[in-house]
Amino acid sequence: MQFIPAVISERAVLRCPTQHWASATRRNRAVTYSLLICLVVGGGCSEGPQGTGPGRREQPLALSPSQELQIGREAYRQILEKAPVVESGPEVDRVRRVSKRIAKAVEIEPLLREINLRLDGYQFEWEYNVVEDDQANAFCLPGGKVVVLTGLLKIIQSDDQLAAVIAHEVAHALAHHASERIARERVVGRGLLSLSYNRLQETEADHIGLFLMTFAGYDPDEAVAFWKEMQNARGGQVHLPEIISDHPNDTRRMQQLQAWVGPAKAAKRALDEGRVMPVGRR
Ligand SMILES: [Zn+2]
Repeated sequence: MQFIPAVISERAVLRCPTQHWASATRRNRAVTYSLLICLVVGGGCSEGPQGTGPGRREQPLALSPSQELQIGREAYRQILEKAPVVESGPEVDRVRRVSKRIAKAVEIEPLLREINLRLDGYQFEWEYNVVEDDQANAFCLPGGKVVVLTGLLKIIQSDDQLAAVIAHEVAHALAHHASERIARERVVGRGLLSLSYNRLQETEADHIGLFLMTFAGYDPDEAVAFWKEMQNARGGQVHLPEIISDHPNDTRRMQQLQAWVGPAKAAKRALDEGRVMPVGRR
Protein backbone atom coordinates (compact mmCIF):
# COMPACT_ATOMS: atom_id res chain seq x y z
CA MET A 1 0.00 0.00 0.00
CA GLN A 2 1.28 3.44 -0.87
CA PHE A 3 0.42 6.77 0.69
CA ILE A 4 1.49 10.40 0.90
CA PRO A 5 2.86 11.07 4.39
CA ALA A 6 3.52 14.70 3.51
CA VAL A 7 -0.08 15.25 2.49
CA ILE A 8 -1.40 13.23 5.38
CA SER A 9 0.55 15.42 7.76
CA GLU A 10 -0.93 18.51 6.12
CA ARG A 11 -4.43 17.42 7.01
CA ALA A 12 -3.61 18.10 10.61
CA VAL A 13 -2.56 21.67 9.80
CA LEU A 14 -5.72 22.31 7.84
CA ARG A 15 -7.72 21.23 10.86
CA CYS A 16 -6.43 24.14 12.88
CA PRO A 17 -5.53 26.95 10.52
CA THR A 18 -5.42 29.66 13.16
CA GLN A 19 -3.08 27.71 15.39
CA HIS A 20 0.45 28.96 15.78
CA TRP A 21 2.66 27.16 13.31
CA ALA A 22 5.30 25.94 15.77
CA SER A 23 2.83 24.07 17.93
CA ALA A 24 0.97 22.82 14.86
CA THR A 25 4.20 21.37 13.51
CA ARG A 26 4.91 19.50 16.73
CA ARG A 27 1.37 18.16 16.79
CA ASN A 28 1.58 17.21 13.12
CA ARG A 29 4.39 14.79 13.71
CA ALA A 30 2.37 13.02 16.37
CA VAL A 31 -0.77 13.00 14.22
CA THR A 32 1.15 11.78 11.19
CA TYR A 33 2.58 8.88 13.11
CA SER A 34 -0.79 7.99 14.61
CA LEU A 35 -2.38 8.11 11.15
CA LEU A 36 0.31 5.81 9.83
CA ILE A 37 -0.37 3.41 12.69
CA CYS A 38 -4.08 3.54 11.82
CA LEU A 39 -3.23 2.65 8.25
CA VAL A 40 -1.00 -0.22 9.33
CA VAL A 41 -3.55 -1.77 11.63
CA GLY A 42 -6.30 -1.10 9.11
CA GLY A 43 -8.69 0.38 11.61
CA GLY A 44 -10.52 3.71 11.56
CA CYS A 45 -8.83 6.70 13.08
CA SER A 46 -10.96 8.77 15.42
CA GLU A 47 -8.38 11.41 16.32
CA GLY A 48 -9.16 15.02 15.44
CA PRO A 49 -12.29 16.67 14.12
CA GLN A 50 -14.61 14.72 11.86
CA GLY A 51 -16.55 17.62 10.35
CA THR A 52 -17.43 18.02 6.70
CA GLY A 53 -15.40 21.16 6.01
CA PRO A 54 -11.80 21.67 4.89
CA GLY A 55 -9.40 19.78 7.14
CA ARG A 56 -12.53 18.08 8.54
CA ARG A 57 -13.46 21.13 10.59
CA GLU A 58 -17.12 21.84 11.26
CA GLN A 59 -18.54 23.98 8.47
CA PRO A 60 -22.22 24.94 8.14
CA LEU A 61 -23.29 25.89 4.61
CA ALA A 62 -26.32 27.97 3.61
CA LEU A 63 -26.41 27.41 -0.14
CA SER A 64 -27.09 24.32 -2.23
CA PRO A 65 -24.71 23.59 -5.14
CA SER A 66 -27.20 25.02 -7.66
CA GLN A 67 -27.78 28.14 -5.54
CA GLU A 68 -24.03 28.75 -5.34
CA LEU A 69 -23.73 28.47 -9.09
CA GLN A 70 -26.69 30.78 -9.74
CA ILE A 71 -25.46 33.44 -7.32
CA GLY A 72 -21.97 33.34 -8.84
CA ARG A 73 -23.33 33.56 -12.39
CA GLU A 74 -25.65 36.47 -11.60
CA ALA A 75 -23.09 38.47 -9.62
CA TYR A 76 -20.48 37.97 -12.36
CA ARG A 77 -22.91 39.11 -15.05
CA GLN A 78 -23.76 42.25 -13.09
CA ILE A 79 -20.13 43.10 -12.36
CA LEU A 80 -18.95 42.63 -15.94
CA GLU A 81 -21.92 44.58 -17.32
CA LYS A 82 -20.75 47.77 -15.60
CA ALA A 83 -16.99 47.20 -15.30
CA PRO A 84 -14.44 48.32 -17.91
CA VAL A 85 -13.44 44.82 -19.02
CA VAL A 86 -10.10 44.49 -20.80
CA GLU A 87 -11.08 42.48 -23.86
CA SER A 88 -7.69 41.25 -25.04
CA GLY A 89 -3.94 41.74 -24.82
CA PRO A 90 -0.99 40.28 -22.91
CA GLU A 91 -2.54 40.90 -19.46
CA VAL A 92 -5.68 38.98 -20.37
CA ASP A 93 -3.64 36.18 -21.93
CA ARG A 94 -1.52 35.96 -18.80
CA VAL A 95 -4.46 35.83 -16.39
CA ARG A 96 -6.22 33.16 -18.48
CA ARG A 97 -3.06 31.08 -18.90
CA VAL A 98 -2.32 31.02 -15.16
CA SER A 99 -5.96 30.61 -14.10
CA LYS A 100 -6.47 27.63 -16.39
CA ARG A 101 -3.55 25.83 -14.77
CA ILE A 102 -4.99 26.52 -11.32
CA ALA A 103 -8.41 25.24 -12.43
CA LYS A 104 -6.76 22.11 -13.82
CA ALA A 105 -5.13 21.44 -10.44
CA VAL A 106 -8.62 21.43 -8.91
CA GLU A 107 -9.12 18.11 -10.72
CA ILE A 108 -6.30 16.40 -8.76
CA GLU A 109 -8.39 14.02 -6.66
CA PRO A 110 -5.82 13.05 -3.98
CA LEU A 111 -5.28 16.73 -3.18
CA LEU A 112 -9.01 17.42 -2.84
CA ARG A 113 -9.40 14.30 -0.73
CA GLU A 114 -6.62 15.23 1.68
CA ILE A 115 -7.89 18.78 2.13
CA ASN A 116 -11.42 17.35 2.40
CA LEU A 117 -12.94 19.78 -0.09
CA ARG A 118 -16.63 19.15 -0.74
CA LEU A 119 -17.02 19.38 -4.50
CA ASP A 120 -19.37 16.46 -5.24
CA GLY A 121 -22.48 17.89 -6.92
CA TYR A 122 -20.86 21.31 -7.33
CA GLN A 123 -20.34 22.72 -10.78
CA PHE A 124 -17.54 25.12 -11.65
CA GLU A 125 -18.00 27.12 -14.83
CA TRP A 126 -14.56 28.68 -14.94
CA GLU A 127 -14.31 32.15 -16.47
CA TYR A 128 -11.43 34.57 -16.21
CA ASN A 129 -11.57 38.31 -16.89
CA VAL A 130 -9.39 41.37 -16.36
CA VAL A 131 -10.99 44.65 -15.31
CA GLU A 132 -9.38 48.09 -15.58
CA ASP A 133 -9.09 49.35 -12.00
CA ASP A 134 -6.22 50.82 -9.96
CA GLN A 135 -6.95 48.68 -6.92
CA ALA A 136 -4.57 45.77 -6.34
CA ASN A 137 -7.29 43.17 -6.06
CA ALA A 138 -8.72 39.95 -7.45
CA PHE A 139 -11.60 37.68 -6.54
CA CYS A 140 -13.27 34.41 -7.45
CA LEU A 141 -17.05 34.16 -7.12
CA PRO A 142 -18.83 30.90 -6.30
CA GLY A 143 -18.92 28.66 -9.35
CA GLY A 144 -15.44 29.67 -10.55
CA LYS A 145 -15.88 33.23 -11.87
CA VAL A 146 -12.52 34.99 -11.61
CA VAL A 147 -11.79 38.71 -11.91
CA VAL A 148 -8.30 40.25 -11.73
CA LEU A 149 -7.92 44.04 -11.55
CA THR A 150 -5.16 45.76 -13.53
CA GLY A 151 -3.85 47.40 -10.33
CA LEU A 152 -2.81 43.98 -9.07
CA LEU A 153 -1.05 43.15 -12.33
CA LYS A 154 1.16 46.23 -11.85
CA ILE A 155 2.54 44.73 -8.61
CA ILE A 156 2.83 41.10 -9.76
CA GLN A 157 6.40 40.18 -10.72
CA SER A 158 5.88 36.74 -12.28
CA ASP A 159 3.32 34.12 -13.31
CA ASP A 160 4.12 32.30 -10.06
CA GLN A 161 3.07 35.36 -8.02
CA LEU A 162 -0.11 35.73 -10.05
CA ALA A 163 -0.78 32.02 -9.45
CA ALA A 164 -0.43 32.61 -5.70
CA VAL A 165 -3.14 35.29 -5.72
CA ILE A 166 -5.51 33.45 -8.05
CA ALA A 167 -5.08 30.18 -6.13
CA HIS A 168 -5.91 32.00 -2.88
CA GLU A 169 -9.07 33.45 -4.43
CA VAL A 170 -10.07 30.13 -6.02
CA ALA A 171 -9.55 28.46 -2.62
CA HIS A 172 -12.26 30.71 -1.13
CA ALA A 173 -14.67 29.41 -3.79
CA LEU A 174 -13.60 25.76 -3.42
CA ALA A 175 -14.05 25.95 0.35
CA HIS A 176 -17.54 27.50 -0.02
CA HIS A 177 -16.56 30.43 2.17
CA ALA A 178 -19.40 32.66 0.89
CA SER A 179 -22.00 30.00 1.68
CA GLU A 180 -20.48 29.45 5.12
CA ARG A 181 -20.49 33.18 5.83
CA ILE A 182 -24.22 33.37 5.04
CA ALA A 183 -24.91 30.36 7.27
CA ARG A 184 -22.99 31.87 10.18
CA GLU A 185 -24.57 35.31 9.72
CA ARG A 186 -28.00 33.70 10.05
CA VAL A 187 -26.97 32.60 13.52
CA VAL A 188 -25.11 35.65 14.87
CA GLY A 189 -26.52 38.45 12.69
CA ARG A 190 -25.15 40.33 9.74
CA GLY A 191 -21.97 42.26 10.45
CA LEU A 192 -21.30 40.52 13.72
CA LEU A 193 -18.94 37.85 12.51
CA SER A 194 -15.73 38.06 14.47
CA LEU A 195 -12.38 39.03 13.05
CA SER A 196 -10.98 35.69 14.14
CA TYR A 197 -13.57 34.02 11.91
CA ASN A 198 -12.49 36.21 8.96
CA ARG A 199 -8.89 35.35 9.69
CA LEU A 200 -9.74 31.64 9.77
CA GLN A 201 -11.13 31.84 6.23
CA GLU A 202 -8.17 33.94 5.06
CA THR A 203 -5.63 31.58 6.57
CA GLU A 204 -7.48 28.59 5.17
CA ALA A 205 -7.51 30.17 1.69
CA ASP A 206 -3.78 30.89 2.04
CA HIS A 207 -3.15 27.29 3.03
CA ILE A 208 -5.29 25.64 0.36
CA GLY A 209 -4.10 28.16 -2.24
CA LEU A 210 -0.44 27.44 -1.57
CA PHE A 211 -0.98 23.71 -2.15
CA LEU A 212 -3.13 24.42 -5.20
CA MET A 213 -0.51 26.62 -6.90
CA THR A 214 2.20 24.08 -6.10
CA PHE A 215 0.16 21.23 -7.57
CA ALA A 216 -0.46 23.43 -10.64
CA GLY A 217 3.32 23.46 -11.11
CA TYR A 218 4.09 26.95 -9.78
CA ASP A 219 6.78 27.87 -7.28
CA PRO A 220 5.25 28.31 -3.79
CA ASP A 221 8.22 30.41 -2.65
CA GLU A 222 6.79 33.12 -4.89
CA ALA A 223 3.70 33.36 -2.67
CA VAL A 224 5.96 34.65 0.08
CA ALA A 225 7.75 36.91 -2.40
CA PHE A 226 4.41 38.35 -3.48
CA TRP A 227 3.56 39.40 0.05
CA LYS A 228 6.91 41.13 0.32
CA GLU A 229 5.94 43.06 -2.81
CA MET A 230 2.64 43.92 -1.17
CA GLN A 231 4.44 45.19 1.91
CA ASN A 232 6.50 47.45 -0.32
CA ALA A 233 3.34 48.60 -2.06
CA ARG A 234 1.80 49.38 1.32
CA GLY A 235 4.67 51.81 1.90
CA GLY A 236 3.66 53.73 -1.22
CA GLN A 237 0.32 55.10 -2.35
CA VAL A 238 -0.99 51.95 -4.02
CA HIS A 239 -4.46 50.75 -3.03
CA LEU A 240 -4.35 47.51 -1.08
CA PRO A 241 -6.44 44.46 -1.87
CA GLU A 242 -9.33 43.18 0.19
CA ILE A 243 -7.28 40.09 0.95
CA ILE A 244 -5.14 42.21 3.24
CA SER A 245 -7.89 43.56 5.43
CA ASP A 246 -9.33 40.73 7.54
CA HIS A 247 -6.40 38.44 8.00
CA PRO A 248 -3.24 37.81 9.94
CA ASN A 249 -0.78 40.67 9.58
CA ASP A 250 1.72 40.50 6.73
CA THR A 251 4.59 39.17 8.81
CA ARG A 252 2.54 36.37 10.31
CA ARG A 253 1.05 35.59 6.93
CA MET A 254 4.50 35.29 5.34
CA GLN A 255 5.70 33.10 8.21
CA GLN A 256 2.74 30.75 7.77
CA LEU A 257 3.13 30.58 4.00
CA GLN A 258 6.87 29.99 4.34
CA ALA A 259 6.24 27.13 6.77
CA TRP A 260 3.85 25.44 4.31
CA VAL A 261 6.22 25.71 1.33
CA GLY A 262 8.26 22.61 2.26
CA PRO A 263 5.26 20.34 2.91
CA ALA A 264 3.58 21.56 -0.30
CA LYS A 265 6.68 20.77 -2.38
CA ALA A 266 7.05 17.37 -0.69
CA ALA A 267 3.40 16.54 -1.34
CA LYS A 268 3.71 17.50 -5.01
CA ARG A 269 6.84 15.34 -5.29
CA ALA A 270 4.98 12.42 -3.68
CA LEU A 271 2.16 12.79 -6.19
CA ASP A 272 4.57 13.00 -9.13
CA GLU A 273 6.27 9.82 -7.91
CA GLY A 274 2.96 7.98 -7.60
CA ARG A 275 2.97 7.70 -3.83
CA VAL A 276 -0.79 8.14 -3.57
CA MET A 277 -2.97 6.71 -0.84
CA PRO A 278 -5.71 4.50 -2.33
CA VAL A 279 -9.24 5.91 -2.39
CA GLY A 280 -11.25 4.97 0.68
CA ARG A 281 -8.25 4.79 3.02
CA ARG A 282 -7.62 7.51 5.57
ZN1 LIG B 1 -8.92 35.99 0.84
